[in-house]
Amino acid sequence: MMVLLKSYIKALCLLVLFPSAFADFVKKKKWIVAADCGFVAVSLLFVLALSSGKSDEDLHIVDLTAAYNTGNVTAMKKIAVVIHHTAGNPNCCINDIAKIHLAEHRWSGIGYHYYIDKDGVVYNLRSENEVVPHSYNFNSNAVAICLAGNFNNYEPTKAQWQSLLILTRKVLKTHDLSAKDVYKHGQMYGNATECCGKLFNIEKLREEL
Ligand SMILES: [Zn+2]
Repeated sequence: MMVLLKSYIKALCLLVLFPSAFADFVKKKKWIVAADCGFVAVSLLFVLALSSGKSDEDLHIVDLTAAYNTGNVTAMKKIAVVIHHTAGNPNCCINDIAKIHLAEHRWSGIGYHYYIDKDGVVYNLRSENEVVPHSYNFNSNAVAICLAGNFNNYEPTKAQWQSLLILTRKVLKTHDLSAKDVYKHGQMYGNATECCGKLFNIEKLREEL
């Protein structure tokens, strides 16, 4: 067993680092070892192919609600999902946003339910039943998703878009909503803002949901 395992490891290392040496390795060994190596290689490629796409199940959400929940909850039914961007400082992090929202704006808490970083990692900042100051008139009945970046200047990253699709589908399902209930912040009645940027394609998002 150990001998076979060593063969696997050696074959894998050679395949990745020195493909021609891998061919020699296969030539010198008996056909069964070559077949094993082939099996390992195919398995590796299969795993890589699987890991390149995300499904609903493998969206990892970092739960920060213990840090940012305020306890101000509502039982109001959600009627929309509202997309925001960080705009002003595209490289800011969650702590910066919290400082701005709490200290400068003097809001009751950080103003988004979810935050998606440029690498596609999703952070749950507030529970969905919390009243969150994000859109005038819609703080109690809409779920706020903020993406890091300024979409007046560029589009969301591929990783952000992929995570946004999976997260939004999940939120829509939870609240029995559909793609037409997803809006840019500036599309909400009474909210005169460019958020979430003129290059954010809300029609494309609705189509892909
Ligand atoms: Zn906004």
